Amino acid sequence: MTDVLIAGSGPTGLTLACDLARRGIGVRVIEERAAPHRESRGKGLTPGSLKTFGELGAAERLTAVGRRETVLRKYFDGAHVSDTAVSDGLLIGQWQVEEALRDRLAELGVRVEYGAPLTALAQDGTGVDAELADGTVIRARHLAGCDGGRSTTRGLLGIRFEGYTAPEQAMVLGDVRAPGLSRDFWHQWFTSDGGGILLCPMPGTDTFQLQAPPEPDERGEPLPPSVESFQRLFDRHARMPGIRLAEAGWLSFWRVNVRMADRMREGRVFLAGDAAHVHPIAGGLGMNTGVEDAVALARTLAAALTGSAGDDVLDAYEAERLPAAAAVLADTAQRHDRVLAAVRTPGRGTEAGLG
Ligand SMILES: Cc1cc2nc3c(=O)[nH]c(=O)nc-3n(C[C@H](O)[C@H](O)[C@H](O)COP(=O)(O)OP(=O)(O)OC[C@H]3O[C@@H](n4cnc5c(N)ncnc54)[C@H](O)[C@@H]3O)c2cc1C
Repeated sequence: MTDVLIAGSGPTGLTLACDLARRGIGVRVIEERAAPHRESRGKGLTPGSLKTFGELGAAERLTAVGRRETVLRKYFDGAHVSDTAVSDGLLIGQWQVEEALRDRLAELGVRVEYGAPLTALAQDGTGVDAELADGTVIRARHLAGCDGGRSTTRGLLGIRFEGYTAPEQAMVLGDVRAPGLSRDFWHQWFTSDGGGILLCPMPGTDTFQLQAPPEPDERGEPLPPSVESFQRLFDRHARMPGIRLAEAGWLSFWRVNVRMADRMREGRVFLAGDAAHVHPIAGGLGMNTGVEDAVALARTLAAALTGSAGDDVLDAYEAERLPAAAAVLADTAQRHDRVLAAVRTPGRGTEAGLG
């Protein structure tokens, strides 16, 4: 029997897997995707996450590629109004974070099992039976649901995900190439009509992460993300006619979600990361909060699996992380409001969400 089965190989699941494996605890990681992705997604590591990755032996490969100082260049109605240097943490794509953790995990002897979605679970006094889509059943002493905002684990446990989902899309997103655009700045163009577009140069690539309020169609409905729509938004807000955008693999959209699980443990099964809490991206805390969850869960599981204290220690994880998740939800909602207020004027930009 495996000690811990982890569903999901995002930053949370991989951090947990590395932390357990380095303690000599038996781990398997199952992942719904058929293969790793290369999406920039969460792109900021806090000093706390970097410290954790240092302890896990995965930080050097990230600091070798990532950017310690990023200059946020704000433009308002086409005019350059400010440059703000931010040097608290590391700018790096989420796929690169996952790659570094996967490489470290492989060194510790564990490989992610792809094309293996969790579909059902049952638990008893000694373990959990986790069923995959192909009918395979894996028995483990504990299961960690690190399977993202739409968590199957959470659904199977019947854990409520209380909160708010905005009816409208807030942003379209994507990874794009923009030949000729300086890679020395995170460009942030805002316009007095309330629109804007942000292009962040992603380290170790020739791409930018693009974020923008979506372009409305003739009925005012948001158009889906596409490189053609990105180009029209860019022309309108950045006003740099020489720059032509080209798609680089990832197109998505994002809406405000402020939700958290009403509990993070049901018997031998735990939730961590986006599976337990989702919140606005202002301040860049989503992935980092998942990393903190993973560290706390590894500590709790290690105490239960290697100590003599018995299963009572399993309560420690939720006692620590449920209040932390509630605090992050409240904090990021305020950061989100500060950013929205700041970008409507020529003054501050998205750095209003950092402090
Ligand atoms: C534009 C953008 C910018 C962001 N910026 C930041 C930032 O700067 N800093 C930050 O900290 N966060 C940021 N975030 C948030 C961050 O991306 C998420 O919080 C983070 O991905 C959560 O990690 P996770 O491992 O909990 O979940 P996920 O990354 O969602 O990983 C879950 C994994 O589980 C897998 N899975 C799903 N269902 C199953 C199943 N049934 N069985 C097995 N596997 C399954 C999925 O395929 C996936 O690989 C940003 C997000 C976006 C979109």
